[in-house]
Amino acid sequence: MAQGPMRSVHEHLQAVLGDLSPRAPEPTAVDETIGLAVAERVVSDFPLPPFTSSAMDGYAVRLADVDALPATLPVPIDLPAGSALAVRLAPGVAHRIMTGATVPEGADAVIPVEWTDAGAHNVVIEHLSVAAAPGLNIRPQGDDLPKGAILADVGDVVEAPRLALMASAGISSVAAFPAPRVAVVSTGDELHPLGKPLPPGGIYDSNGYLIAALAAQAGGRVAHRVRLTDDEQPATEILESIASEVDLIVTTGGVSAGAYEVIKDVFAKLGTAEFTAVAMQPGKPQGHGTIAGTPVITLPGNPLSAMVSFHIFVGPAIRALGGHREVMAPRARLSTAVELDPRPDRVRYLPAVADLLRQTVSTPPRHGSHRSSVAVGTNCLIEVPVGQAQMMAGTEVEVVLFPAR
Ligand code: AMP
Ligand code: MG
Repeated sequence: MAQGPMRSVHEHLQAVLGDLSPRAPEPTAVDETIGLAVAERVVSDFPLPPFTSSAMDGYAVRLADVDALPATLPVPIDLPAGSALAVRLAPGVAHRIMTGATVPEGADAVIPVEWTDAGAHNVVIEHLSVAAAPGLNIRPQGDDLPKGAILADVGDVVEAPRLALMASAGISSVAAFPAPRVAVVSTGDELHPLGKPLPPGGIYDSNGYLIAALAAQAGGRVAHRVRLTDDEQPATEILESIASEVDLIVTTGGVSAGAYEVIKDVFAKLGTAEFTAVAMQPGKPQGHGTIAGTPVITLPGNPLSAMVSFHIFVGPAIRALGGHREVMAPRARLSTAVELDPRPDRVRYLPAVADLLRQTVSTPPRHGSHRSSVAVGTNCLIEVPVGQAQMMAGTEVEVVLFPAR
């Protein structure tokens, strides 16, 4: 454990993010960009919508022809959506038009079919439910976005609406930052793989699954999930070979004050590292560095500590490597439903359930950093600030929200 004063969570986050940068952008099929950050400015080559179209099923008319009601007009032309007909509306007639069809030149309103007798050859416009002004039920060309509008910019993460917007503009491929490749490394002689009975003194490697799942939720692509014993020689070889294939290595265990701290030994040989005490609970022993040039973040082995540390440090790191503009997890301020005990020296992070409807947050009843079951079903961490006095139920607290599962 490093000597000296503890570093704040923010200072350590800054250090971890330090010089993380995304891989070179790749041309990416637009439908493969969900969850990725765009690496170029994407603009529309044409206005959206691309032509002036009807917002209703009805009749394209000249308002002058429906001054006096009821008005009977001949219907010479049918205009379904997708029709390529470039037509003009002569005075004294109506064209039957469907939602999304091009509005004929000369028409200044679309009368909804519900205000008419729905006639096919002649139509009787019976009434107007709203005052008819020019442009009624007409969606002008460019009403959504003009030609040249920015559809996405560097660092924007593509979600469903942005994907749809780019598709509307005919964009089939964009430069995007690739999802960072992550190696998840568990360490400890006590760890065993699933599928075999546990020997005495053994536990199953649950962190490997925990961190791999969280890394995927944060937008990483888990390229390796490995288990290392506390044996330095093989650990060195494995980490060196993995380093060349990934953008980030996340380890758990092997960095606290005990003996057999394999990760620290490997770093001493292969790269640079900084091990620090961070003023947080759980998650005090943190480290970061590089192995053969690849960034590494070392998390404590305790499953709850590993989970909390992941949300605070690794999630932002994965998003930074993915080129996301916003790397921090979303936060909210909610009223705590339970009393909270601050610590005088460290920020506490408690897995908790945020109820966004009631604007409250509560913790599962049993704490304890070795009790990994308390995290099941939680959707945020309460950030209990450093302090002396107990925080009463009803106090507003800040929470760090987890990404959607
Ligand atoms: P360490 O940081 O290696 O001293 O480990 C701290 C605690 O976390 C010990 O009780 C370990 O057995 C436990 N632990 C470490 N790694 C894992 C893992 N991958 N899965 C489950 N528990 C672990
Ligand atoms: Mg260990």
